[in-house]
Order: sequence, then structure tokens, then C-alpha cells
Amino acid sequence: MIASQSSAQDGLESPADQNPAAESPGPGTACRPNGAEQDAEPVVVPRDRHPISRSLIDPDALSIMYRLRNNGYKAYLVGGSVRDLLIGKQPKDFDIGTDARPGQIHRLFRSSFIIGKRFKLVHVRFPRNKVIEVITFRRAPSTDELDRYGAENTFGTPRQDALRRDFTANALFYDIANYSIIDYVGGLRDMQERNLRVIGDPDLRFKEDPVRMLRALEFSARLGFTLDPAAEAALRGNASLITDASRMRLKEELFNLFTLGVSSEVLRRSHDLGLFPHLMQGVAPSENLWKLLGAMDANAGDGRIPEAWFILTTLHFPSLHAQMPSLLNENLDTVLHVIETMVAPFSTYYGLGSQTSHLARELLLSLWRLYRGRGCRGEFKFMKRESYRLAMDFLKIWSCASGLDSHVSEEWHAPVSKEGARQGAQGRRRRGRRWRGKPREEKTGPQDPPGFAEQEMRKDIT
Ligand code: ATP
Ligand code: MG
Repeated sequence: MIASQSSAQDGLESPADQNPAAESPGPGTACRPNGAEQDAEPVVVPRDRHPISRSLIDPDALSIMYRLRNNGYKAYLVGGSVRDLLIGKQPKDFDIGTDARPGQIHRLFRSSFIIGKRFKLVHVRFPRNKVIEVITFRRAPSTDELDRYGAENTFGTPRQDALRRDFTANALFYDIANYSIIDYVGGLRDMQERNLRVIGDPDLRFKEDPVRMLRALEFSARLGFTLDPAAEAALRGNASLITDASRMRLKEELFNLFTLGVSSEVLRRSHDLGLFPHLMQGVAPSENLWKLLGAMDANAGDGRIPEAWFILTTLHFPSLHAQMPSLLNENLDTVLHVIETMVAPFSTYYGLGSQTSHLARELLLSLWRLYRGRGCRGEFKFMKRESYRLAMDFLKIWSCASGLDSHVSEEWHAPVSKEGARQGAQGRRRRGRRWRGKPREEKTGPQDPPGFAEQEMRKDIT
């Protein structure tokens, strides 16, 4: 992939380099990399020994870097874009690192905006809602600084900027000044060995920001890299700390797994390492879940972002399916109650909107209707609904993934005469009378009066 060559990086002086305060590692060194990484000279790979050509870089990102450079600042392509270009993948975005301060960047680009409260960075906007992030090199704030100011604008040197990042593969820089790659953390070697390594002590870095545990599994799956044994052990040891992480950030990373098509691998792995129960609140792990997620993942990658309600249904259907035999003769209240109890912990934990939960409940209920079979009252009306179509599509994916239940959708594809349906409906209705009686004590539905979603479903599904 790369012919690397070690040499001192010339000209890395920056305003932050000249600021002794910025250089000081500070008392927050608990989260810092080991001494070797702190002090070693970076590996600099010249243009003729790596595969990143300017033709692979977004032209707007190039023009930003050139303008920064022409105005006397450093300008590096940073983070995921360098990693992805090195392994021949199209980067999702092109982030730029520089020693220019946010105000200086803003003055260079007319259509730019300084954003961020705690740490300011600049968005340079282009037509068609395109945004490129330009971020001043920063360092991990010391614990003392965190206490005093929050993580505000702790600018740093390029080296410090590399060391604050999560994995060595995510900490490589591409320098527009001479088209070289700069590696402060051994990322090139790790990439060549297909090793995902945490920068610094994984135990401390995971404690410092538990979201990194999920990111470790995500990048290991995305890149097909082996998770470094030290990181794996630290993940096992700190799994329960994931509940301390910001749920918003976790939700973003989690839902990203479905878009990237790595949900099955990551969640299965998180189960093996003890992260799953803390991360997936109320979702039951099972072989069928991994299979279903695998089938969803196989369809990912076309740029479509799966809807949250669909993800929620996917996460819970294997568990509903496991209970199906005992639910087939139950009444609507009971089934709704079971579904509600199943869906609530995860959707409440991650603050999914009520519409998301409603749609997931509706799809799960429609799947139960499919399994209950034909001949029930309201069948023709049900078959005209969007939720019927969605449930049939879902069932197809489920059958392919699990190898189970293809007869269920076949039954619904078979033509049924109105007469047959009427007879069936009468038969069901007789049983239904018992259903509509007072539900048994332990099987009553939710204590609250039925919400709009349930009322709508009752109108149609009885
Ligand atoms: P993607 O292709 O998903 O955008 P990425 O590597 O660009 O991958 P981002 O989440 O966009 O990932 O983050 C950008 C960069 O910021 C990462 O490459 C990494 O260097 C750094 N980073 C992100 N999250 C963390 C974190 N929790 N701790 C340390 N560094 C992080
Ligand atoms: Mg990114």
C-alpha cells in the first residue's frame, strides 16, 4: 500500500507550537498516549511513495487547503478521508486541519461560518448544501482545564491533534504543501497490518470517552481490521461504562451502523464482549437477530439511510417471533401490551420520537396479523393498508435471512374468495367475543388510556 520512510517533519512550527502552554501535556495526561508516541518523530511519506493523488480529493477541499497554504497556514487533510483514500475507498467527507484560528479561517472564506460553543470550528459552505469542515489543530484538554473552562478552544500542534484522536488509522495527515502523508502515531504500520489500535492506553481512552468502545467495533468491522488485543481487553473491562456516554452521540453512532451495513457484525461482537446489554437496552440478542441484521446490512450501501422505525422493528421482531406461538390466540390488547413492553426500553433510552415507536409497533402488530393467518375480520381492509405491504416486505427479508416461515407469506398471496373470508371471519368472530370480554387481570394492556396510535390500530385491526 505504502512505501514508508521515516524522517523528521520539517517546518511544523505553528502558533500553537510557539505557545508553551499549548505544548504542556497538562495534568490530564491520564488520557494521553504513551511516551513513545508523544516524543517520536513523525513518519513522513513523500508523494511518490503513497497512492493519494490530488485527483482523488474533492476539488473544493483542495481549493480550501491551497488558500490556507497561500496565506501562510498549514493545511492538512485529516481523519477519515486520509484513511479511506489509502485503502482505496471513497471518503464520506473531507475534513481539513490547520494552524489558522477560527477567526483567521473565517476571514479567508466569504461563505464560511464559525460554529460550536465549546470548541469553535469553521464550516465553509458550497452550493447544493455542501459543507467542508475546517478545524484548528487542537489537543485533548487537561482535566484541570476541563474543570475550569470546559473543553473550550484548547488549540494545539499537529502532533497534539494527532494524539487526541481515537485510532491510529484515524490520525493520519495529508499535507497539501508537499503532498506527503504525516504519521505521528504508527497509523501507516497499523493499516498495513490491518490492525485497529487505540492511540494511547485503551483502558484510559475508553474511560475518558466510552463512545470510543462502539467506534472501535464499528471501525474494525468497516475496515475489516483486527481489533488490537489490548483494546479488546479494555472494551471487555469497561463495557458497562457505555451507559455514562452521551445518548445522543451513541444513538448517532448506532444508527450509522445500519447505514454503513455493519450492524450485524458490530452488535454480535458487542454481545461477545459484554457491551450489548448496556448499549441495546431491552433488545434480546439471538442468532436470528444477527441473521436478520445481516440481511439488512447486505442491502445497505446504496446511500439510503434506513428509517428509525424500521430499525426498531428489526431489532425487536426476532424476539416477537420467539413468542409468536403463544401470542397467536391472544387478543389485541395483550399483543399490543407485549409489543409495547418490548419496544419501550430502547426507544425511551434513546429518546426516539413517538411517531417512530408508533410505526414500529404498527409494523410488529401487522406481522403478528400475518402469522395469525387469514380469515380474520377486517382482512380485506388490512390488505389495503401500507402496513400490510411493509409487513409482507419485511417477512420476505426475514424468511430469506432465517430460512423460516416462507409459508406465511405464501398463504397471504393465495387468493381467497369473499365467501371463504366471510366464513373464516365468522369463525374468528365467535372466538373474538371471548377476546372482547374483560381481559384477564395479568394480561391487561397498558395502564394509560390508549393513545392515538392504538386507537387508530383498534379501528382497523380487530
Ligand atoms: P467517517 O467516514 O465515518 O466520517 P471519520 O474517521 O471521519 O469516519 P468521524 O466520526 O467523522 O469519523 O470523526 C472524524 C475524526 O475525528 C476521526 O477520524 C477521529 O480522528 C476523530 N474522532 C472522532 N470521534 C472521536 C472520539 N470519540 N475520540 C477521539 N477522536 C475522535
Ligand atoms: Mg467523518
